[in-house]
Amino acid sequence: MIKLLRRIIQEVNVAGDLDEALTIIVTRVREAMGVDVCSVYLTDPQNGGQVLMATDGLNPGAVRQARLRQGQGVVTLVVERAEPVNLDCASDHPRFMLLPETEEEPYQSFLGVPIINHRKVLGVLVTQRREAGRCDDEQVAFQVTVAAALAGAISHAEASGSITTLLGLRPQTNRRFKGLAGAPGIVIGKALVMNQQIDLDVVPDRRIEDVTAEIVTFLAAVEAVRIEIRTLGQGLSQALSTEESTLFDAYLLMLSSDSLVGKAVANIRTGNWAPGALRQTVLEHVRVFRAMEDPLLQERASDIIDLGRRIMSRLMERDKRTFQYPEHTILVADDVSATMIAEVPLGRLAAVVSMHGSRYSHAAILARALGVPAVMGLLDLPLAKLDDREVVVDGYGGRVYLDPSPAIRAEFLRIVAEEKKLTAGLAELRELPAETTDGYRVPLYANTGLTADLGPARDSGAEGIGLYRTEIPFMVRDRFPGEEEQVQIFRQVLRAFAPHPVTMRTLDVGGDKSLPYFPIHETNPFLGWRGIRITLDHPEIFLTHLRAMVRASEGLDNLLILLPMVYCVSEVDDTLRLLRRAHQGLVEEGYAVKMPKIGVMVEVPASVYQISAFARRVDFLSVGTNDLTQYLLAVDRNNERVANLYDYLHPAVLHTLVQIAQFARTHNIPVGVCGEMAGDPMVALLLVAMGVDSLSMNAGCVPRVKRTIRHFSLQRAKEMLQEVLGFESCTMARNYLDAVLKQEGLSNLVRPG
Ligand code: PEP
Ligand code: MG
Repeated sequence: MIKLLRRIIQEVNVAGDLDEALTIIVTRVREAMGVDVCSVYLTDPQNGGQVLMATDGLNPGAVRQARLRQGQGVVTLVVERAEPVNLDCASDHPRFMLLPETEEEPYQSFLGVPIINHRKVLGVLVTQRREAGRCDDEQVAFQVTVAAALAGAISHAEASGSITTLLGLRPQTNRRFKGLAGAPGIVIGKALVMNQQIDLDVVPDRRIEDVTAEIVTFLAAVEAVRIEIRTLGQGLSQALSTEESTLFDAYLLMLSSDSLVGKAVANIRTGNWAPGALRQTVLEHVRVFRAMEDPLLQERASDIIDLGRRIMSRLMERDKRTFQYPEHTILVADDVSATMIAEVPLGRLAAVVSMHGSRYSHAAILARALGVPAVMGLLDLPLAKLDDREVVVDGYGGRVYLDPSPAIRAEFLRIVAEEKKLTAGLAELRELPAETTDGYRVPLYANTGLTADLGPARDSGAEGIGLYRTEIPFMVRDRFPGEEEQVQIFRQVLRAFAPHPVTMRTLDVGGDKSLPYFPIHETNPFLGWRGIRITLDHPEIFLTHLRAMVRASEGLDNLLILLPMVYCVSEVDDTLRLLRRAHQGLVEEGYAVKMPKIGVMVEVPASVYQISAFARRVDFLSVGTNDLTQYLLAVDRNNERVANLYDYLHPAVLHTLVQIAQFARTHNIPVGVCGEMAGDPMVALLLVAMGVDSLSMNAGCVPRVKRTIRHFSLQRAKEMLQEVLGFESCTMARNYLDAVLKQEGLSNLVRPG
């Protein structure tokens, strides 16, 4: 059964469109279950009724014609109950309604299973038999499994508008996709779809003018792969038997075949660029092979994919070399990485849109640091159809609009203008302190990691750098930077802010941050080899890193060092030993360097309860609320499926923060907050009320947080904190804070328009 199921899912995944996918489902499920009829009904997005979308067994002429309004028929009963309806004889049921065009009179037994994605019923998978009788447990379980496995694909089709198209409804203008707010701001630009790996499924279509040149390029890529395969085959010929060597011959044969190369060329002639044409051709072949009975022939699908990837990789190299970035580039990818962002020339990057990830992914953090909007976790985006289309990115609401109508465009342009006005107004606060109306001051620092970001950080009025993410300059290189190279980078940052403090965090890779030249593959990376665990395991890298930081501070003396992911004191002790060694070595070499202050990040719950021990060893604490929230709530900060559960206003997070502030006070050690939470204006105020000594945030947030702090008294902030600590849910806390913002006329600080 499992094999069968896997095969159906595989076939569905490579189907060209929803129509084809549904046809595969009904045919295969009917065969597998030995029933007389299998049909899929989908929810009509316009009126909530059910429409017959595919059938094997009923009258095919009824497809898209047979419709049930809400409350009509047993199919809609499945939707209402959101559970299987298993009937001996459907026509005996009081809700039965005959749809004559389907010609379903002869069928008695009925099993309808809801197709549910993220708690939403998308439609119903129905099987029917001539004879009366309920389906047994195993049949129900199989049908439920198929429906659950297919829900994702159907939901994707729904969001990408395929269902609307299939139903012949008027295509929607301003197609809107809802994701997660990643970085604030609103822009209109041109989508540029970037591929980080050779994933054929997500290669976009792109229109081209010069068909002949494209064909020449394509054939050159094919030739390069042919040479590559021949060389590979020759290299292994000694070790392989003649029979095994024929595998390479088969590859070469496919590369000469008209069906693969010729078809792709024909696709290019229709005006699609070579990667898009290749994707189309390869996926068509894969579909044909996967549908074959013979397992050997089915295996050919993998060979075709392999060949396709090889050709694609050659084409991508060419693409990288010749690529022109649009003036307002909206960088779109399956999973936007920090390196992809770095590839776009700075003046051209207008926004970031990622199908995976959340507000706490490093791509989003980087976008915020660069001051460009980002929308994350848009699983339903039709990536292959996006390239070069006009897109509005609303980084406040986490929405993306495709091909906006003039009215929507005008509305967004109005909001953009309003936001500009607000930013100009906030600029007046630059030289003023973040001080409550009753005179309580709290330093605001900026988070950074890019050199390009230093100017905006200074202009924001930040009083120093509270978190410099050293891994970012490491990520954009192709090897570990050497000591001298690191000194240059770090000194630039320290100098830009001297005499103000700059807190440099030691290399924090692992989790979702990997270095292209130091890949880490783990099943559970956020609980794995991360942050200080890696650097302590590589003293040769760590010592150079620490030496570079201390050397870079010579004569400036504004460096503080922060340790990420600490969970026990021995990590601190070991680092201190290395740091002293680095410092001592530099002094002996004649550098006039001081021993910097050192701090521990509180981002692992275990560290909360060791504050007294840390206080005996280090000079300050900095709470990394991004990770602390993820570990306290057991919610992956990058996983869009659970993004709605990730919330730093969760009572557990707020109460833990209160405790941290208390422990720090008791043990007389300063504590700051450097997670994204510190940049949320009202939440920042709550942190001040808790007694946190400093806040560090993205430069763009500094003026907004300052404006909020200057608006309230510490007394009022403490009252609000007490109120919020009494709430039992994130929603209650969020609603309360929003209401206060509104009442105080500050709502536009969080979202203009
Ligand atoms: C944090 O975890 O809150 C933090 C600031 O570190 P990062 O987001 O870089 O993991
Ligand atoms: Mg962290």
